Amino acid sequence: MRIGMPHMGNLYIPFKALFQRLGVDFVIPPVNNQHTLSLGVKYSPEGLCIPFKLTLGNLIEAAELGADTLLVPGGSGICRLGYYVTIQEQILRDLGYNGEIISVGFSQHKLSGLLKTIKHLSNNAPWPKIISAFRFGLAKLNAMDRIERIVQKVRPVEEVKGTANQLFTKAINAIDKANDYAPLKKVQVDYINQLNQVTKDDIQPLIVGVVGEFYVLLEPFSNLDVESELGKLGVEVRRTTFISEWTKFTLFLNPLGVNEKKRIHKAALPYLKRDIGGDGWESVGEKVLHAKEYDGLIHLAPFTCMPEIVAQNIMPSTKEDIPVLTILCDEQIAKPGLSTRLEAFVDLLERKRRAHNN
Ligand code: SF4
Repeated sequence: MRIGMPHMGNLYIPFKALFQRLGVDFVIPPVNNQHTLSLGVKYSPEGLCIPFKLTLGNLIEAAELGADTLLVPGGSGICRLGYYVTIQEQILRDLGYNGEIISVGFSQHKLSGLLKTIKHLSNNAPWPKIISAFRFGLAKLNAMDRIERIVQKVRPVEEVKGTANQLFTKAINAIDKANDYAPLKKVQVDYINQLNQVTKDDIQPLIVGVVGEFYVLLEPFSNLDVESELGKLGVEVRRTTFISEWTKFTLFLNPLGVNEKKRIHKAALPYLKRDIGGDGWESVGEKVLHAKEYDGLIHLAPFTCMPEIVAQNIMPSTKEDIPVLTILCDEQIAKPGLSTRLEAFVDLLERKRRAHNN
């Protein structure tokens, strides 16, 4: 069995570690690039959302690299995510792929469903081995997210622009190579120290929350690496969505009994009383909840994504009033247009802060 799966940020690293520990052959498609997008766009129905197109491109590339088992994102939500598996399978079959296609949806059966899928993929490996491999994958995930949170803080204040990103790339590679808990811990400590020692300007950066649909939040290629662009403009990014956090709330019962998602939903209630699919409910709730802490909000929404269209239309009416810039992500989005809009938005936030301080 040779397993392939789509990218979403650096998620392939914990999966690679997990499958390596179980002795399962795992093929990683190239990191998302223009070719991946072209493949996805070519074979997808035109009106589908960018996560569908990019993940389809990844699946085609994984099949070309010899994957005979493809893991396809699935789910039982209200939006079109529920149809991903059926449509992507149909497209892949039409293209001549005849391997196994497995839907990986986390929402229904939580941890037990995921572990059962891993058991199947590992040719019925014993449970202790599966759980140990899973724990090691989670440790890598946590290490990556811990470092990324610091990178978000360093980017806007670093004296030499690009330093935090360079360290982050090196840290991700080192985490990927770490083959046990001790070297993993060492990598984490080393890179956190290096990031803390980066020479920084003495400024109070603008704080901007980044909210929106899960995939476009976590896959930098799909949002043209908007967080780095904001960093270059001297903005500190706050993002609630990290896969390690999401794993806690979605796969496990939260041990502390504090469920951030519940807090966000509660905040959204005066404006939106129910789940509308995807992450639309959360987008509204995050605006309400964090309006006092942030100078502004970037709302990332895949073009044609129904839940985020609903959220986009509710946001201007909330009494918690901070500027929101919605960025629609699709295959037409380009860096010059994005940069211009970000610069104008940051300019507005700076003026607002100056006016507030005077
Ligand atoms: S939430 Fe939006 S982008 Fe994500 S799968 Fe649903 S419709 Fe597509």
